[in-house]
Formats: sequence, C-alpha cells, structure tokens
Amino acid sequence: MSTPKTADGPTVDGLTPDGPTVDRRAADGLTADGPTSDGPTVDRRAADGLTVDGPTADEQTAHGQRVDDLTDLTDLTVRENTAAATRQAAAAAIDAQGTDEAEWQEARLPDHLPRLVLPAGPVVVVAAHPDDEVLGFGGTIAALLQAGVEVHTVCLSDGEASHGPGTPSARARLAARRRAELSAALRELGELPDPVYAGLPDTALDRPEHESEARAIIGELLGAVGAALCVAPWEGDLHSDHEAAGRAARHAGRAGSTPVWSYPVWMWHWARPHDPRVPWHRAAVLPLPEPVTDRKKAALARFSSQLEPRGAGIAPVLPTAEIAHHTRAFETVIR
Ligand SMILES: [Zn+2]
Repeated sequence: MSTPKTADGPTVDGLTPDGPTVDRRAADGLTADGPTSDGPTVDRRAADGLTVDGPTADEQTAHGQRVDDLTDLTDLTVRENTAAATRQAAAAAIDAQGTDEAEWQEARLPDHLPRLVLPAGPVVVVAAHPDDEVLGFGGTIAALLQAGVEVHTVCLSDGEASHGPGTPSARARLAARRRAELSAALRELGELPDPVYAGLPDTALDRPEHESEARAIIGELLGAVGAALCVAPWEGDLHSDHEAAGRAARHAGRAGSTPVWSYPVWMWHWARPHDPRVPWHRAAVLPLPEPVTDRKKAALARFSSQLEPRGAGIAPVLPTAEIAHHTRAFETVIR
C-alpha cells in the first residue's frame, strides 16, 4: 500500500502529518461545505448535521422564555441542550489531533482482549461508506473467504460527500469512482459477490427515513443469504453515518435473530487505550495471519480517492497516520 504524503505540516516522529484534521473529517462525510482547512469549525459541522440539532444561544433564550412555567417542557429543553452538548463534544473529539498508533501498539490489545474464532456460516458486512468494511473488517473478510466462508457486503452510501458538496455531476462522478474502488478492493480480499449498494445519501444516514430503509435492506440480505453473523460500523464511533449504520444493523439482526458484531473506525482516532467511552468489556480481537494482512493492505491501496490529497495543500481523507490503525496484525470488534 502506498499512501501519499500530505502537502502541509511537519513530519513528527517519522509519521506523515495528518494535515488539518477538519479536512479529514469533512472528507469522510462529516462535513459538507468543501475542503477548506480554515474558517469556523462549528459552521462546517453544522453544515452536515453534527450540530444543527442544537439550539443557538438566541434560540435557547427564546425557547426558555416560552417554557418558563412549564416544568415538563423545561425538562425537554434540558434534554435537548444535553444532546447538543454531547454532539458538540463528539465533533470536538474528531476534530482533535488523533491518537498515535504507537500508543495503541503499546497497549498490546491482543494480550488483554479475548480472541474470537471465525464464524462458520455466511457473514454479511455492512458499511456506511465504500471503505469502512475494508478498514474495519477487511482482514477478517479475507480470512473468512480463505476458509471457504461466504461473505456478502452492503454499502449504504456511495461516499459522494467525501470531497465536499460539489456539483451534482461531481458528486455522481465521485460516487462512481468510489464504487469502482470498493469493487477492486474487495477483489483483493478474495472471491465474493459485488456489494449491495443501497445508494442512500452520504452524511444523512441518520435521518429516520434513511436509517429505516438501511435496516430493511440489511434485514433482507441477512434473510436472503441465511447469515450466521452481521458485522457493521460501531454505534459509538462518533460519526453520525457510522452510528446510524450500526443501529440499523443491530435492529435488523435482532429482528432476524442474527448476532451482530461492530467494528470501530474513527474510534482509533479519538479514543485512547482504557478510554472509558469504549466498552472494552465487550471488545475482542481477531488475529490476522500475515498473508491476510497483506491482502488487506492491497485492498486499502485501492481507495485512491481517499488516499490522495484532495487538492493543493488539502490532506487526504486517509493519511498514513490514520491508515496505520487499520493495518495491524489483528482486527477488533465489539460484541
Ligand atoms: Zn465511513
């Protein structure tokens, strides 16, 4: 896998600099106002729904005056503000400098977490964007295929917002490119059917109508292939699309009595070893033999739209420091 260097920022400890972190977040679909690296961060988050559900200061005042005498509505206001604060904190966590992979290596997760064995029956792997499944579970997909286990994938959005809003035709071109990259990446992992592409809108999977459609599509696939296991992005990943994909998979799995495992993606960026926001008691590892890790690296290298700088001085979505979290000799799931 070759990952291009970013055009900005100093190299620290031999790692390629991340570049402006907001750019990476924007490119993964968290923001929608274009690949600029400066300007008011909160505005960019608001553009994609990370903070738009929180009232502005003016709205809070007006709302508070209206409900002064109504205790239940005041409680509602408190809950709304708490939810807004939680989302602000999530956005801040993803904006912050990411955790160095060396710190995760020092934590020696495989020495402390239980090891899982591969399931024997068909496995359905869900992604919010075309690359999540490879980043979080690609090595295990390769190991499953090598063991003769059927693997099916469903990709909920085409990731068309990764380079900012753009024109409709630019978004369509990027969507087509990302589908082609995913198909090529999956072929590096082994022989499996083309993904089910749900074509739901990038950055809006958490809208109720899209989340319920995602749930129906996942449920249909689980039933059609007789899945023994569903694997999906983690609901606590602090990315609204990943969280919606995880919830949709959990509900679909529950309806069909299919167990669901979750894989983190952004968690490796914003969390640190022993982070209390991560349910470590439910985490487990899947060790990957070296040939499988090599296949995963080859698959990751196919995501050129995410690995290349998105313009002069604009960091790629997946700089070297981020990829480093996903080329370990094991993968981690939360059960
Ligand atoms: Zn994603």
